[in-house]
Amino acid sequence: MSWFKRDSHTDKQPAPDNSERTVRTEGLWRKCDGCREIIWKKDLEASLNVCVKCGYHFRLDARGRLEMLFDDGVYEESDAELASSDPLEFVDQKSYKERLQSMKAATSMNDALISATGLLHGRRVNICAMEPKFIGGSMGSVMGEKITRSIERCIESNIPLIIVSASGGARMQEGAVSLMQMAKISAALMRLDESRIPYISVLTDPTTGGVTASLAMLGDLNIGEPGALIGFAGPRVIEQTIRQKLPDGFQRSEFLLKHGMLDAVVKRSEMKAWIGAAFDFFVGPAAAA
Ligand SMILES: [Zn+2]
Repeated sequence: MSWFKRDSHTDKQPAPDNSERTVRTEGLWRKCDGCREIIWKKDLEASLNVCVKCGYHFRLDARGRLEMLFDDGVYEESDAELASSDPLEFVDQKSYKERLQSMKAATSMNDALISATGLLHGRRVNICAMEPKFIGGSMGSVMGEKITRSIERCIESNIPLIIVSASGGARMQEGAVSLMQMAKISAALMRLDESRIPYISVLTDPTTGGVTASLAMLGDLNIGEPGALIGFAGPRVIEQTIRQKLPDGFQRSEFLLKHGMLDAVVKRSEMKAWIGAAFDFFVGPAAAA
């Protein structure tokens, strides 16, 4: 099974007498989960991680997301130094401390969210983007605190908020502490609402658990990316609970839009323009910089 970890094209073109060439092409291609075509990774990056053949939306990391939304990809990060103190000294297959260390090394981030301010179509905004590669984008005390501080900054400076969710939900390793973040963020969003400042929630693949059950569904507009998995509990748990077969496309953006749970499904390539237009509608055109 050792070949299984390599990219799929390599087993189609075995080159035992030309191993150098095999090594060099490895990792340059990716198979599309939508149309099964082989895509050159450079092409994929150039199209914001969307398949040019079928429009399948691959996941996008937090930095890619911020670069895509901010004018010229320029932004200023806040609270990057915040890191979890492991309040429960939690240990599963490995200790939470070790897990955090390896995640920090892999992502160069201290936790699963980047909070940043910058311009979007010339308007100052605060964007929080979750990092799905950091323990599944799970929400613990650090994410809760960073989002809450972002909301408070938005209120102080009277600037709109965007949160891009990509999360498996609350972070198991922080137990009840992570569940409390739902209430903490929701209360802060209430104050944002009272200040009449717009908040757009962008739900990307996957947005589940406590994140869906709180901040992701509390936007003035909740918009999803095409094909994104959005839900609270997983489909198997629901089927077992209600003892019914679930319909096709259940918990995907398009299904949620049809059933009134989302306001729009917006392609990644149109996301920035869409959000800019929504803020124009909410608060008027951006003041000339
Ligand atoms: Zn495709």
